[in-house]
Amino acid sequence: MTATQAPSTITEHLDVLVVGAGLSGIGAGHHLQARCPGKTYAILEAREAIGGTWDLFRYPGIRSDSDMYTLGYSFRPWEEAKAIADGPAILDYVRQTALDEGIDRRIRFNHRVVGAEWSTEDARWTVEAERSDTGETVHFSCGFLFMCTGYYRYDAGYAPEFAGTERFAGRIVHPQHWPDDVDYAGKRVVVIGSGATAVTLVPAMADQARHVTMLQRSPSYIVSLPGRDPVADLLRDRLPAKLAYSLLRWKNVTMTTLFYQLSRRAPRLVKALIRKGVESRLPSGHDVDPHFTPRYEPWDQRVCLVPDGDLFESLHAGRASIVTDQVDTFTENGLRLASGAELDADLIVTATGLNMLALGGTRITVDGREIKLSETLGYKGMMLSDVPNMAVVIGYTNASWTLKCDLTCEYICRLLNHMEQHGYRQCTPRNRDPSLPTLPFVDLKSGYVLRSLDQFPKQGLTAPWRLYQNYVRDIFMLRYGPLEDEAMELRSPEPTGAPGPGRVVPAPPSSTVTSEAMP
Ligand SMILES: Cc1cc2nc3c(=O)[nH]c(=O)nc-3n(C[C@H](O)[C@H](O)[C@H](O)COP(=O)(O)OP(=O)(O)OC[C@H]3O[C@@H](n4cnc5c(N)ncnc54)[C@H](O)[C@@H]3O)c2cc1C
Repeated sequence: MTATQAPSTITEHLDVLVVGAGLSGIGAGHHLQARCPGKTYAILEAREAIGGTWDLFRYPGIRSDSDMYTLGYSFRPWEEAKAIADGPAILDYVRQTALDEGIDRRIRFNHRVVGAEWSTEDARWTVEAERSDTGETVHFSCGFLFMCTGYYRYDAGYAPEFAGTERFAGRIVHPQHWPDDVDYAGKRVVVIGSGATAVTLVPAMADQARHVTMLQRSPSYIVSLPGRDPVADLLRDRLPAKLAYSLLRWKNVTMTTLFYQLSRRAPRLVKALIRKGVESRLPSGHDVDPHFTPRYEPWDQRVCLVPDGDLFESLHAGRASIVTDQVDTFTENGLRLASGAELDADLIVTATGLNMLALGGTRITVDGREIKLSETLGYKGMMLSDVPNMAVVIGYTNASWTLKCDLTCEYICRLLNHMEQHGYRQCTPRNRDPSLPTLPFVDLKSGYVLRSLDQFPKQGLTAPWRLYQNYVRDIFMLRYGPLEDEAMELRSPEPTGAPGPGRVVPAPPSSTVTSEAMP
């Protein structure tokens, strides 16, 4: 569909269209129902399942790498025993939330959104979706578009071109598409990678495999934490579930914030502490250098968390080992490394990462002009400059995703109610300073981030254009802060006639709402 071609039929008009039925989309459904009960909404989901990440990834041992008291929703206590939870338990939690609240009935499965066009004249989006079940292209319209599409491509994980793969007699598997029939019992496995997925796979596969080797080009920081939180066990037995959950959330928010701030301010101290932790868990004869000494500072890339030191247990048991080297080529029997060493393998797992993708690949057009995301600025870490009536859920890089997701949903619900109350039909963040210095949107230096930064928006140096990655700061800005500021243009364009400046309504005093949410 081009800007001048109107779609032949609009299937449905909704006040809000949510795109994606993962953790964020289901959270958005909850907040819309609870805070904007008069608004109609639907969720368009490309796949035929709820859960996004937690339904897609099926590799052995798949689990969270942040605690469930902060990865869980603010409105639904996580009551399972494990704080670092298995993928299926997280999927069940998301699905159950959708079922209990009737959010599942709002989902249109097999609808992959490919384009969205904003018309100022009509103050609405026209959204184009491809149906994977019928092959049809369908169109919806909505007043507000809420993108809960995650941050990576679903169809293909990142797989670098390795030489000689065609010669390898064994099997090569990528964790993003784990086939049901992978049999690794008694086999020699090599896992290529050093990130969260690799450190999860190694101990999980070591139980059955003959041996698992983790082959890493460069190491990550690895921190061990108890899989079960003793404080949680104590509080859960003595306090009502909601109160215990709220206290545990604050405890963990405080701890992760302190750890992150200390890492940024005193990286040498944190490096020494992490090293000490690793040394105390390594079996004798295993070297910390070079396998556990990254070349970057803690939190330049995500720190990997291992529950109950399970990775180190596998090293102790002799069922796993770590090699720090580079792949030269795949051979018939396994891998030849840059050092000349050979690794024999029956199965090679390429835990080499994700391909980032903004807005689920949706093409965005505003009044006939296609938006280049790299030319936009993120507003309050959720809206984009010059893109009206659209928000995006992007979680924290240094804390659990859902903390930011809940705050974003709360803010958008406040904004929608505020607009309705004052007769505004359009809200557009506008950067009025063309010389504003900018930074990349995501502050991590991981390979998967650096590979795709040019496809993402930018951020400014100060609020509201700065993405602070700070939950407590965001509570003040998003839950209690004003909805109107110099950058936010709120308008009521005339419902008919040529697009023009519209009627700019003078700003009334901003409103705050009392929140039902826990921290
Ligand atoms: C293996 C793994 C482990 C992780 N562990 C953690 C962790 O422990 N803690 C943490 O904070 N974060 C973690 N993350 C990040 C994780 O993605 C988030 O925690 C969270 O699951 C994101 O939820 P989401 O709903 O925003 O996105 P997703 O889970 O990616 O869901 C997005 C949904 O949108 C749909 N979609 C995408 N594009 C379109 C489109 N164009 N049209 C229609 N539908 C579309 C997808 O099909 C999907 O269902 C992990 C990520 C991975 C890959």
